[in-house]
Amino acid sequence: MHTERIGFIGLGIMGRGMAANLLRAGFALTVWNRTAARMQPLLELGAHAAASPAAAAAASDITFLCVSDTPDVQAVVLGEQGILAGARPGSLVIDCSTISPAATKDLAARLAERGVGMLDAPVSGGSEGAAKGTLSIMVGGEAADFARALPALQAVGKAITHVGPNGAGQTVKLMNQILVVGHALAMSEAFLFAQASGVDLHKALEAVQAGAAGSWMLSFRGPQILARDWRPGFTIDLQQKDLRLVLEAADAVAAPLPGVSLIFQLYRALQARGLGSEGNHALIKALEHLAGFEVISVQ
Ligand code: NAP
Repeated sequence: MHTERIGFIGLGIMGRGMAANLLRAGFALTVWNRTAARMQPLLELGAHAAASPAAAAAASDITFLCVSDTPDVQAVVLGEQGILAGARPGSLVIDCSTISPAATKDLAARLAERGVGMLDAPVSGGSEGAAKGTLSIMVGGEAADFARALPALQAVGKAITHVGPNGAGQTVKLMNQILVVGHALAMSEAFLFAQASGVDLHKALEAVQAGAAGSWMLSFRGPQILARDWRPGFTIDLQQKDLRLVLEAADAVAAPLPGVSLIFQLYRALQARGLGSEGNHALIKALEHLAGFEVISVQ
């Protein structure tokens, strides 16, 4: 049994798996979710329910949050019933959402004024990684806070890297997202080409995924495309949010990212067609639309 009591706010696709793994690792857990019904599976595993983020933080030494976008994190931390209203001096907040690096630095400063530590600890590895406890975690913040958080982070992730001060974790996560969408576009173009050329797509996938062209995206989302299974591990809306964050952060440092700009527009076209809640691998639908044909599995 661990001595640090944990709070977890935001039990969506990612948060629910991470919270369950903290319970399995033996941490006492208090949860809060905006839509209360989503707390039920965690309560059945032994978590306690809080009435607000403030109450969850008040009951915890370390409070995780994993919500959607920058304004959502700001609302959950700084709102009237937010974490800041309940967290005790000496406690620690760990934000696993993907949000703005600049806003993260501001939040860390606001929490520090009250003696509360903060780590930005965005994650990668999809819904599968969250469920299995195998996420990659890129952490920004003080070294002492990182050392304190490590046992809890090890309950939810495998590759856990302290990458620098507050904001650096989010910056590295945005770098991660540049790689993710590049792989998604490459996979989409590759399938479209293979389809147009008349080769068996299952055999083609099997042949290329173990070689130099392999990627997490290809191994996990390639089979989903061939099954035309668009259920989200990560939604198009959230992927688009990340690309907006990438382009804003790149603008601030004058880094040209023509590939990300293109993919941002392709995802925008899918959102305009009402597909924002589908998985990010549905990027291929934007190319299918241009090509005038669909990738169809023959199996
Ligand atoms: P999700 O399934 O849509 O869940 C979002 C969670 O945030 C829900 O619990 C939602 O509450 C809560 N929330 C959103 N806005 C809120 C607000 N204003 N106040 C309070 N709660 C709010 O999203 P997800 O896929 O778990 O992603 C969560 C974060 O992890 C995002 O920043 C995402 O970019 C990042 N991420 C996701 C993945 C992935 O593969 N899915 C991978 C890495 C990182 P309700 O239940 O009430 O809606």
